[in-house]
Amino acid sequence: MIDMKDLKKINYIYFASSNKNKLEEIKSILQSYKSKRLNKLKIKSAPEGFYVKEDGKTFLENAFKKASFLSKKLNKVVFAEDSGIEVFALEGKPGIKSARFFKGGKGMLEIIKKLSNKKNRKCCFTAAIVVTNEKGKTIFKIQKSWYGTITYKPIGNNGFGYDPIFLIPNLNKTSAQISQKLKNKLSHRALVTKDFAKWLIKTNYKLFP
Ligand code: IMP
Repeated sequence: MIDMKDLKKINYIYFASSNKNKLEEIKSILQSYKSKRLNKLKIKSAPEGFYVKEDGKTFLENAFKKASFLSKKLNKVVFAEDSGIEVFALEGKPGIKSARFFKGGKGMLEIIKKLSNKKNRKCCFTAAIVVTNEKGKTIFKIQKSWYGTITYKPIGNNGFGYDPIFLIPNLNKTSAQISQKLKNKLSHRALVTKDFAKWLIKTNYKLFP
């Protein structure tokens, strides 16, 4: 039985990122979860100017660096997300360097050019979420991928980043051509956030006063 008093409680978790697109996607994926308590969970963004050098070798390492740094600074439970696009014929590049490689969209055209003489256009978006406790130690981690292929030109205006060149199998549309609602059901971020949501529910919010 759910105690009605519990439903009134507002729980907080900190998010170690200043990327508004990611935050909006994560928020709406959590909202779509049919849990009243989860819907009341407030996500507090990192303070203005938050910056951590993302020099880890994996998405999980970089997510850990961001979460752990902010956890220790605030003495709070913090989660971070690290993500990017991996192109198989380019040995997984740009991968963890996706944000830097993007260069206002030029990075997408570079990928298309680099694939011009390649048969294999397979790629995936990968996302990792790490949650750290007040001491900066990992208490939850997850990484998942969303598989697709690279288009021959950018198509679509929705989403952000590499969405215009990510072709979704079966739909024959890029992730910039589908609605945000559908992207939030299919994406790499949706996959990891679902597991994150299940974990949040399992903790019964004791970690998030
Ligand atoms: P970071 O995790 O903040 O280092 O940045 C991840 C980068 O990967 C973003 O800036 C985007 O360029 C790219 N990326 C991650 N997720 C998505 C997505 O859902 N759509 C398009 N691009 C993405």
